[in-house]
Amino acid sequence: MKQAVFIERDGVLITVRVEKQQQVTPLTLQDFRPNEDAAPLLKKLKAAGLILIATTNQPGLSRGYLARRELDRMHERLRKVFPLDEILVCPHDETDRCPCRKPKPGLLSEAAFKWHLNLDHSYVISDKWQDAEAARLSGCTSLLLESPWVGKVHRDFLLPDLAAIVEKILQLRASRRAVTA
Ligand SMILES: [Zn+2]
Repeated sequence: MKQAVFIERDGVLITVRVEKQQQVTPLTLQDFRPNEDAAPLLKKLKAAGLILIATTNQPGLSRGYLARRELDRMHERLRKVFPLDEILVCPHDETDRCPCRKPKPGLLSEAAFKWHLNLDHSYVISDKWQDAEAARLSGCTSLLLESPWVGKVHRDFLLPDLAAIVEKILQLRASRRAVTA
């Protein structure tokens, strides 16, 4: 079975504006800013044989202020910058009570089914508690970036930057391999 790294889009793969202590998700390609510094780090994970999947809650799709076509253009750009295998989107609003809006683990289980993933040996990278919770519910190891949005839920690692997180994942993989060898 394969192993994956799930990566929150906003705040990790793209830089976002912050207003009133909230991240503001971009609505146009013009405002879409991939975090180019992260590209070499993701390439390291990819080279280690991990499937890379970006995840994002985009309730603007169902609320009507984000156009699907514009989102597709943003994600086309994202795929050019990062070696992503897939980008998974929850388009729902909280009131839709869908199974995929993080902190619910629906996007992770959908990916596990499609890619034949072993979630117990997969990882979640984010700057937000919602992803740590989705990771906990599905058995993934969570690695959070220090940020104002990490909350108080369980996370496996809290680290200062993406380089430290990638290093930790590669270490964990190496020690797991040593155990199973
Ligand atoms: Zn959803």
